[in-house]
Amino acid sequence: MHERTGMRDGFERIFGIETEYGVSVTGADKAVDAGQVAMTMFQPVVSRARSTNTYLDNGSRLYLDVGSHPEYATAEAADPMDALEQDLAGEHIMRRLALDAQHRLRAGHGDHATIHVFKNNVDSAGHAFGCHENYLVRRFVNLELIEEQLLPFLITRQLYTGAGRFAESGFQITQRADFLDEAVSSATTRARPMINTRDEAHADPESYRRLHVIIGDSNRSQWATWLKLATTHLVLCVIEDAVRRGVPSGFEGLALADPTEANRTVSRFLDDPEAGLAVKGADGEANGRTLTAMRIQRRYFDVVEAFVHEHGDAIAAGLPRTSPEAILDAWRWALDALERGDMAALAQRVDWAVKYRLAEAVRRRKPQVSRTALERLELEYHDVANGRLYGSLVAHGQLRRIADRDAGDKAVDTPPQGTRAALRGRFVRVAREANAQFSCDWTTCTLASPVRREAVLLDPFDAHSTAEFTALMDALRGEAGGVR
Ligand code: ATP
Ligand code: MG
Ligand code: MG
Repeated sequence: MHERTGMRDGFERIFGIETEYGVSVTGADKAVDAGQVAMTMFQPVVSRARSTNTYLDNGSRLYLDVGSHPEYATAEAADPMDALEQDLAGEHIMRRLALDAQHRLRAGHGDHATIHVFKNNVDSAGHAFGCHENYLVRRFVNLELIEEQLLPFLITRQLYTGAGRFAESGFQITQRADFLDEAVSSATTRARPMINTRDEAHADPESYRRLHVIIGDSNRSQWATWLKLATTHLVLCVIEDAVRRGVPSGFEGLALADPTEANRTVSRFLDDPEAGLAVKGADGEANGRTLTAMRIQRRYFDVVEAFVHEHGDAIAAGLPRTSPEAILDAWRWALDALERGDMAALAQRVDWAVKYRLAEAVRRRKPQVSRTALERLELEYHDVANGRLYGSLVAHGQLRRIADRDAGDKAVDTPPQGTRAALRGRFVRVAREANAQFSCDWTTCTLASPVRREAVLLDPFDAHSTAEFTALMDALRGEAGGVR
């Protein structure tokens, strides 16, 4: 650890995934709008927490902002595998809320009222909503470097992490490309950036920033969720290490001249896999040079592979569950399959390829199938409440599962280990069981009554109780210095 700032010197990282869900009802006697559905789902939350914004036993945040998109933000994970399991817990939680709400809804809206909760990013009215990845990054990495050296990776990794969409203009491998119109910016309301720079570190801001990645799709494929975090982690490790040492990273010369345009080109990958993305010259202007998305991914892969060979042990020491070699293997597999155009292989792991293959199968039987019908198929795949398609693909071994069968279920009650989430989760559970009034944010746990007590958990890597936290828990249990 760095003595002055408390910054970790190795390759540790914190991962978090925020997922916004879309909701709707079909089969009801009278119309129910999405806002009503969301509120019905959140009734039990509101009656327990007196708010539509709460933290859960696993340390996560569950909330409903204005509008009708329930959101689940995973607690801080130290490994992509933990983050995946916590994200799966989010699917379980949404499903439970939905089925419970459906039961109540049927009383007034008929026995066929069915709630759908979509883990996707575009609704039928053409509004986009998000799946944000959060990465703790050392503060010395500036945002210019993020744009020049990370963004080309984020745009091209969609070749294997995109969730796909039957758009009006044809099939796209991502959901969101048409909705993102800026590269790196602090705005999220008017402009829609691929990376948001709003500066809330949720940690010591002298040492860290929280990189807030907006460009990604929500994934149903477990492999895709894990790999997008894992590969991005390794790319960030290379960038951090280069800055630390004051040497080139190897990602020079990949900065894109027009990231928004490049993103849309990548999204139309199947129209033209050889399409060139314009890169910037040394003077910062487009210099007429283009690289294909695959070429850019190969460059990233080669640099990261060499880096892992050199620093494998140190990287492994920072990841409790995922080996760097396993990340490289999965990444290489994806690039090779893409290069071969092997749709059958890709469809076992890559969300867009699953959809593409399904559509092809439908078209073989019914060549004139409408886009509306394909969209319905797609929604069925994304529906975590009542959709059957995803489960059936997994059950038939057509889509790979990488987490244990019951991992998501378990993670509903279990915070990720080795981060402050473990403390927050403990606090929430005990407070809830004691029926105490409490609140949290990512860096504090607060007991509101019968006595007011607070514990600050500024270091996300620290899962050890502090004197302050112990005092908080004591107060909660009505022990020494607590409730009198
Ligand atoms: P918005 O919904 O407006 O985008 P937001 O990005 O501020 O809000 P939340 O929805 O509260 O954030 O989610 C924050 C995410 O950041 C969570 O997944 C959490 O685990 C993660 N996180 C918390 N602390 C850190 C940290 N220090 N570094 C990286 N990620 C963090
Ligand atoms: Mg959020
Ligand atoms: Mg966010």
